[in-house]
Amino acid sequence: MPERTIYLDHAATTALDARVLDAMVPYLTTEYGNASSIYTLGRHAMQAIDSAREEVADILGCRPTEVTFTGCGSESDNLAIKGIAFTSQKKGNHLITSPIEHHAVLYTCQYLERFGFKTTYVPVDTYGRVDPDDVERALTDQTILVSIMYANNEVGTIEPVAEIGRICRARKIPFHVDAVQAGGSLPLDVTELNADLLSLSAHKFYGPKGVGILYARQGVRLLPQLQGGSQERGRRAGTENVAGIVGAATALRLAYEDLPEVLPRIIALRDRLIAGVLTIPGSQLTGHPAERLPNNASFVFEGVEGESILLSLDLLGVAASTGSACTSGSVDPSHVLLAMHLPVELAHGSLRLTLGKDNTGEDVNTILAALPGIIEKLRQLR
Ligand code: PLP
Repeated sequence: MPERTIYLDHAATTALDARVLDAMVPYLTTEYGNASSIYTLGRHAMQAIDSAREEVADILGCRPTEVTFTGCGSESDNLAIKGIAFTSQKKGNHLITSPIEHHAVLYTCQYLERFGFKTTYVPVDTYGRVDPDDVERALTDQTILVSIMYANNEVGTIEPVAEIGRICRARKIPFHVDAVQAGGSLPLDVTELNADLLSLSAHKFYGPKGVGILYARQGVRLLPQLQGGSQERGRRAGTENVAGIVGAATALRLAYEDLPEVLPRIIALRDRLIAGVLTIPGSQLTGHPAERLPNNASFVFEGVEGESILLSLDLLGVAASTGSACTSGSVDPSHVLLAMHLPVELAHGSLRLTLGKDNTGEDVNTILAALPGIIEKLRQLR
C-alpha cells in the first residue's frame, strides 16, 4: 500500500479543516440545545445560527434574512428551482438551463417537466461556455427561471454568470446560480453576480458534509420543499444542524481569509500539472484554457478508459476522478463532455485532477512522473 494518499479530488469533496472542527465541537457536545427551545441552552444554539447566518451574508454581500441553511448543495438547487417553479405557475411554465449543469439541477428540471413545465437547454461551446446571447434569445414571456452554474464541476469552466444575470434582471426573471464549485475560490458577491438565488455546499470548501446554503434575494417567493416545523423562516422544516451550520459559515469565512495565500499556490500547481500532462501524446485539456477554476486540471486521452486510469492511479495512492463525483464508477460518458461536442470515444478517456490547499509540488511531480507510463501501458493493453 502507498504510504499516503495524494488527494486530487477536491471537486468531489474536501477534508474538514481542523479550525472548522474546533468551531463545531461545542455544538456537538456541551451546547447541544434545540435552537427552537426558549431556555438558555436553546438560545445559545439560535445565537450560533444567527451569527453563522451573518457571517455567510457578509461574504455574499446580502442580508442575513436572505440566507437559508439546507442539507446539501443538491437540496439548495432543488429548493431554488422547485421553490420558484411552484410559486410561479400563474406567470409561466418555462425554465432555461444548460446541458452541463449538475444533475441536482438537470434532474430537477426533468422532474418539473412531469408537472407541465418546459425546459430549454441553451448550448455550450467546445470549452463548455454558455453564450449570454443564447440565454437572451431563449427567454419567452413564459420564462419563470434561468439557472446557470457559476463553474462546471467536471471541466472547471467558469460561466459568464454576471452577464446572464444582467439580462435576466432587465426582464425581471429570477436567476439562479449553482455556485457549489465556485464557493471558497471565486468571488461570491450576489450583487455583482446579478444573482437572485445562489447555491453553495459546505463540504466543497473544507466544511462539513450535509450542509448547504441557499441565498434567495428578498422578495423572491419560494415554495418550501419540506413540510413540518417553521425553521429557517418557514423555508426548510427540520431541527437545525447547529454544528453543521456553524461549520459551514466558519469554513466559508476561512476559505476567503486564506484565499490570498492559497490561490497563487494552487494556480501555479494547476498550471504545471496541465503543462506536464499535455506533453503526453494524444492528450487534450477539457474546459476553458483561461476561464477555469483555479484548482481544476481536466483532460481526455485517446485510446484509454478513464476508469482504468483511476484504478492505476489508485494503486499509487492517488485519488482522482473521471468527472463529477456522482458519475465516478459509471461507464456512461459524461453528459458534460458530450454537450461540449467531444466524440464519445474521447469522452470515455477523461481524467479530472482537482487540487486543494494541502497539495504540494511533490504531489504534482508524482503524477507527472507516473501518468505517461500509465497511459502508455493502458493503450498497449487494448
Ligand atoms: N452542484 C454542483 C456544481 C456540484 O458539483 C455538486 C456536487 O458535486 C452539487 C451541486 C451537489 O452538492 P451536494 O453534494 O452538497 O449535494
